Amino acid sequence: MRPRVRGGMVRADSDPLEAAVNPDLNPELSNRADGACELCGAAEQLDAFPVPPHAEATAEHGVVLCATCLGQARGDAELDATHLFCLQGSAWSEVQAVQILTWQLLHRLPGEAWALELREQIWLDDAARAWAEAGLKGAAASEDQVAVVDSNGTPLANGDSVSLIKSLDVKGTSFVAKRGTAVRNIRLTEDPTHVQGKVNGVTIYIKTEYVKKIG
Ligand SMILES: [Zn+2]
Repeated sequence: MRPRVRGGMVRADSDPLEAAVNPDLNPELSNRADGACELCGAAEQLDAFPVPPHAEATAEHGVVLCATCLGQARGDAELDATHLFCLQGSAWSEVQAVQILTWQLLHRLPGEAWALELREQIWLDDAARAWAEAGLKGAAASEDQVAVVDSNGTPLANGDSVSLIKSLDVKGTSFVAKRGTAVRNIRLTEDPTHVQGKVNGVTIYIKTEYVKKIG
């Protein structure tokens, strides 16, 4: 903590020391961090950050960060490799959430040889590794996503229109959705082999191999 500045007039509502720690911080987190950023040790403007993909900064899933580290962890600020040298310390934290956030940040510094080397030294058990990887934004996550495509291999998205390339019996109804029927404003479903759309006012699930994108 910085020593209190003497002499100046400090209004209670703007006292920087009072404002340094977010009063809503989870008390367990606050005790653990002991007034310092868990990545770099800075003592100012501390706030809790839930380590992705977790959304709540509980004692288990949260870490206490200073404003500089918080901006970088959130992705609001460009990663500053020089500031992130602090990860060389936090990599050895006894707190799992701190180690995982450290791993995730190191992963976002692909151009830095030291970051790659350090990341390989962080030992995570299977569950921790799954957490760490699940929280990575962008590329890694989307690579795993299966693309939804029509019978020609054209990608399908929510809101697209398709036509049926085959007449289909609609389960649970007496009608047949005829070949050539246009289905507008389709929705993707949990299952990449099916899309959802309305035919004759009835919402049906259609196999993507039986549709062709028309717009
Ligand atoms: Zn920090």
